[in-house]
Amino acid sequence: MNFDTIPEHQMLRDSVRHFLDAELPEKTIREYDRARKIPRSIWPKLAAQGWMGISLPEEYGGAGGDIMQGTILCEELSRRFPSLGTDWLLTSMTARVFMEVGTPEQKAHYLPLLTKGEFLMGFGMSEPGGGTDVLSLKTRASLSNGEWTVRGQKLYTSLADDADAILVLCRTEPETEGKRARGMSLVLTPRQQPAVTVRRLELMGMRAACTCEVFFDDAKAPEAAVLGERGRGWYHLLASLDEERILCAAMYVGITSAALEQALQYALDRQAFGRSIGQFQAVQHPLAEVATELEQIRLLTYKAAWLLSQGRECATEAAMAKLAATETAVRATDKCMRILGGYGLVEETPMERLFRDTRLGPFSPISNEMVKNFLGERMGLPKSY
Ligand SMILES: Cc1cc2nc3c(=O)[nH]c(=O)nc-3n(C[C@H](O)[C@H](O)[C@H](O)COP(=O)(O)OP(=O)(O)OC[C@H]3O[C@@H](n4cnc5c(N)ncnc54)[C@H](O)[C@@H]3O)c2cc1C
Repeated sequence: MNFDTIPEHQMLRDSVRHFLDAELPEKTIREYDRARKIPRSIWPKLAAQGWMGISLPEEYGGAGGDIMQGTILCEELSRRFPSLGTDWLLTSMTARVFMEVGTPEQKAHYLPLLTKGEFLMGFGMSEPGGGTDVLSLKTRASLSNGEWTVRGQKLYTSLADDADAILVLCRTEPETEGKRARGMSLVLTPRQQPAVTVRRLELMGMRAACTCEVFFDDAKAPEAAVLGERGRGWYHLLASLDEERILCAAMYVGITSAALEQALQYALDRQAFGRSIGQFQAVQHPLAEVATELEQIRLLTYKAAWLLSQGRECATEAAMAKLAATETAVRATDKCMRILGGYGLVEETPMERLFRDTRLGPFSPISNEMVKNFLGERMGLPKSY
């Protein structure tokens, strides 16, 4: 199957590139990366193109597209600006959870705001004591007098500084022996209140994604702020796992393709020993390897997206795509950066930023060790943890 021959997909790809050329030239991206923040104003602009709810129904302000379109969009946003891809993915996934398990009132209220880019939502799952082992989380919420009180700490909550609310995965029911996944809920907690404090983390990569530590010191949320069924928050998240992994893979397909384009251009332009360095076999081979691996991860990612768009089982393919794309991007940016020589380390080059940004992929939103554990089980091997 040739996924590139579908005209609507090519049109979408072209329009995202045109938009980004106009709105986010490299100089602007560099400023945002240094400021470690993407201005809020970008989200309504993406929304005006129909890209904040590309695969959500039109009745909620979405574009009524499918996961294939989401995949192409995520790839293109990340090709230009991976931090934007990260925050877009996060926003899409929280909107997806609203779509899947929200009450009619919650959907009618929040989805149009999300798809207009007027309401920003962080997602607080990871904690200092539990990232991979997320079910060990300690944040709790209790209900009394028609109000939730949220107490705990989240680590690595992207967008949190700017967010209007944070969708907090927390324990609301007592723990059942041997069933840690039960008793968690998703509580939409307003960000702008004194009991919620946020500290921005100074990260090496994905700097502009604005990833924060968040403290909830008896923060308040209305009773109706629980998304989905009380005590079943973890299971609600599992429903969108395949989509999240596919979009994550698309991000790193985009990054790999950006790194290859730059290295290729440099190989053609840079002269050494009276010829372009692209004439040296030692420069051609890594480029050929990256081009081949890029095709592999793109096909794997699009296959998983296509299966999902057909309503077919794709958990294995989505996990493989996430694993392959994130590991490939790390290797590819390394190889491509070497071709740029010293210039690859200069802050003004996109390569330097891409190299830093790829470091997130192998462990987030799920670590590749856990992806391999999952694939091992799928192959019939015993659970390893
Ligand atoms: C820039 C950035 C943005 C993020 N955004 C968000 C966000 O918006 N919301 C959110 O909730 N989280 C977010 N995260 C958190 C991210 O999802 C976690 O970093 C990730 O889940 C890994 O958790 P950890 O960092 O605590 O690693 P740990 O859990 O401490 O793992 C450390 C290492 O141990 C390995 N390991 C652990 N258990 C096993 C096992 N059973 N088998 C094999 N290996 C194992 C892991 O693979 C990893 O290599 C973000 C992180 C970053 C850096």
